[in-house]
Amino acid sequence: MHGGDHAARLAAAQREAAARGVDALLVTPGPDLQYLVGYDAVPLERLTCLVVPATGEPVLVAPRLEVLAAQASPVGSLGLAIRSWGELDDPYALVASQVPEAARVGLDNHMWAEKVLALRAAMPEVEQVLAGPVLAALRMRKGPDEVQALLAAGAAIDRVHAAVPGLLRPGRTEREIGADIAELILEAGHVRVDFIIVGSGPNGASPHHEVSDRVLESGDVVVVDIGGTMPDGYRSDCTRTYALGAVPDEFVASYGVLQQAQQTAVDFARAGVTCEGVDRAARDVLESAGMGDLFIHRTGHGIGLETHEEPYIVAGNTLVLDAGMAFSIEPGFYVDGRYGARIEDIVIATEDGVLVANHQPRELVIV
Ligand code: ZN
Ligand code: ZN
Repeated sequence: MHGGDHAARLAAAQREAAARGVDALLVTPGPDLQYLVGYDAVPLERLTCLVVPATGEPVLVAPRLEVLAAQASPVGSLGLAIRSWGELDDPYALVASQVPEAARVGLDNHMWAEKVLALRAAMPEVEQVLAGPVLAALRMRKGPDEVQALLAAGAAIDRVHAAVPGLLRPGRTEREIGADIAELILEAGHVRVDFIIVGSGPNGASPHHEVSDRVLESGDVVVVDIGGTMPDGYRSDCTRTYALGAVPDEFVASYGVLQQAQQTAVDFARAGVTCEGVDRAARDVLESAGMGDLFIHRTGHGIGLETHEEPYIVAGNTLVLDAGMAFSIEPGFYVDGRYGARIEDIVIATEDGVLVANHQPRELVIV
């Protein structure tokens, strides 16, 4: 990512803020700050806040002791003005002084409550709204560099899934397998492990189970949903379902329906269809097979600098997909007390279909 991209993003954020009647965006460390100026700052008690007025020059308010770190980031080459504050200064008053005319400010969705309230106290007449809608409008539409980053993240997590069958053996615990997967996620090129789900047997029926001390048994179904963060900040997220030896015929039949549901949604997705339409495409297949009640979550979520971001692939979301929108397609079915299954790929919408970031086999892998 070079300075030109960040300058363009800041300009786009200003246009979007103006169009939505937001006089300034106030963005603290997190994915929005990373997206806008490339500064991957750690959220701390001392206030760092990017101030993006709808018109005028953006300014980064930062503690004096963080200035060198900020300048070492793309903020330096961007030529962004930095207003530093010392230990005895009031940084909230400093932020307020940067936007004296503002009547409405947009706060990044993940801003800490203590900062929200301190900003409210410093600007008592100013209405606070979420910056989320302004920034999501930008962040949802991935540029070519971001598409490449997501494809690279997909290839990295594919390498991990390729090794998973070798880790699954009766007698091992989910936790032992999860520890091995964590090492593989880092070896594959990620800089951080974001989550590891190894849901064996009945644990697979809980979509957000992580790992436990349950010992794998022959005949188990194992749901493995894993993801990490690449050096550029982009995320991976991929699920495959594995079988330890012979599993019930009933499960194999249901899994076949699930695979068809996932493929149907992948084939349906493209620029011009709605998010809820993609959800419906997957759900129809499962409902037709009498499995609708077992598919207990939305079909997918956007992904980029966060694992879960807009657009959400869910009933009621009438947003029309644009080229460049990246999201998961991950239908599943869950039978309490017995097993679960999910197939998840990350896709990026194009004018005539999708780019698929994950390529490990989607058939039930029997190990
Ligand atoms: Zn996942
Ligand atoms: Zn996911």
